[in-house]
Amino acid sequence: MFEYAPAPESRDVVDIKPSYGLFIDGEFVDGTGAPFKTINPATEEALAEVAAASQADVDRAVQAARKAFGVWSAMPGSERAKYLFRIARIIQERSRELAVLETLDNGKPIREARDVDLPLVAAHFFYYAGWADKLGYAGYGPDPKPLGVAGQVIPWNFPLLMLAWKIAPALACGNTVVLKPAETTPLTALLFAEICRQADLPPGVVNIVTGAGETGAAVVNHPDVNKVAFTGSTEVGRLIARSVAGSGKKVTLELGGKAANIVFDDAAIDQAVEGIVDGIFFNQGHVCCAGSRLLVQESIAEELLESLKRRLARLRLGDPMDKNTDIGAINSAEQLARVRELSDIGEAEGAERWSPACTLPERGFWFPPTVFTGVAQSHRIARDEVFGPVLAMLTFRTPAEAVEKANNTPYGLSAGVWTEKGSRILWMADRLRAGVVWANTFNKFDPTSPFGGYKESGYGREGGRHGLEAYLDV
Ligand code: NAD
Repeated sequence: MFEYAPAPESRDVVDIKPSYGLFIDGEFVDGTGAPFKTINPATEEALAEVAAASQADVDRAVQAARKAFGVWSAMPGSERAKYLFRIARIIQERSRELAVLETLDNGKPIREARDVDLPLVAAHFFYYAGWADKLGYAGYGPDPKPLGVAGQVIPWNFPLLMLAWKIAPALACGNTVVLKPAETTPLTALLFAEICRQADLPPGVVNIVTGAGETGAAVVNHPDVNKVAFTGSTEVGRLIARSVAGSGKKVTLELGGKAANIVFDDAAIDQAVEGIVDGIFFNQGHVCCAGSRLLVQESIAEELLESLKRRLARLRLGDPMDKNTDIGAINSAEQLARVRELSDIGEAEGAERWSPACTLPERGFWFPPTVFTGVAQSHRIARDEVFGPVLAMLTFRTPAEAVEKANNTPYGLSAGVWTEKGSRILWMADRLRAGVVWANTFNKFDPTSPFGGYKESGYGREGGRHGLEAYLDV
């Protein structure tokens, strides 16, 4: 094991204010709900106090978005594109600041915030900026129209990236937005609000309302919202689908997952091990498309497990602000309790639990990388989304059995296939009921590529040309 000297990123690059208001009509204003604190999950230190938007505040935000819709939707696409390009460039210029703030508020390793989240955030704005003046060539008719005001609610696992997935296509198509970030990670959305001002975006085009579930419900149920875009749990997605049914609102739901990462006996084992680690331990497993079920062909199961354990013993868990860190903090005490509960159930149901020796910091919310073997299809850890650094390993003998096991889930967001045979990749991809199938890689994202689920993973696509459809009246 190599010894690494600490390589801490400086938190001085970001100026965190003691308190934040709501961003409505281009101004920061007080909320009328009870303010709440957002904390650093790695230290439990309160970072700032944040306003909570009541129904009346959400109404003000929707009215501002409605007013701005007239100006924004009438603007030529080439003009809207200039604003989006400007936002993308400012994100790049301020990316270190944004990455540090994301890590402090979320608990993810700075290396991931810096090298994955932020480049993708900027890329999304650049990509959709490019579409703004070409909507007539996107395959939705010669002059597709925007929908109006989009109410958008996002989760805490990729706070700024989920914001980019929502706001960039909405604005490119000529809609205006009211976005609610998750209550445990509101800070980068509020810094993004500052960036909107810096970019001289017309007031009301983007409104950010912070708060918990009730604020989210007020956004999606507001009668003057034309489009609802939600990313979060299947449970809340179901509530939203029920509450907006019959309202005429267009809806996209990006929900949970329980992806199978399938390794065949001819796969390059070391490469597969890297993909398995990336698939489930990236972002502490707080990834909707995480490869949380490892399906390994029986003949190589032992060899692969040994390599995987060797690799996991070398992951560094700890201070997310240290550039050497591989595994950061669990986002909240509630999420940690859920990961612990499901892992305890895994053991109680008879699966064998293993974690490498690693010392957890005393303060903050931490969970070691964990692998369960001897897992049966009926075990909760093979069925429920843990949304943490917990891998359930199962085996299979034939490709048909792999497909059957992989599809044996109410979810259908993603899957991974590891094999040297191209024909087998295509055969598998045809049969896997998953929105994305990665071959000999995992968790690869690109703004040009559509992403979304089947079954209880939701409906609608984000990203790529397909992502425009959700924000156009087609
Ligand atoms: P969550 O559903 O609890 O919360 C998501 C957001 O919804 C938060 O902003 C929350 O405040 C808000 N909310 C809660 N109750 C609401 C209500 N009744 N009406 C409207 N809004 C409400 O989910 P979470 O715990 O924040 O996120 C984790 C989940 O998100 C996981 O299940 C994960 O798989 C999923 N996720 C999916 C994708 C995807 O693209 N499919 C991406 C990231 C996360």
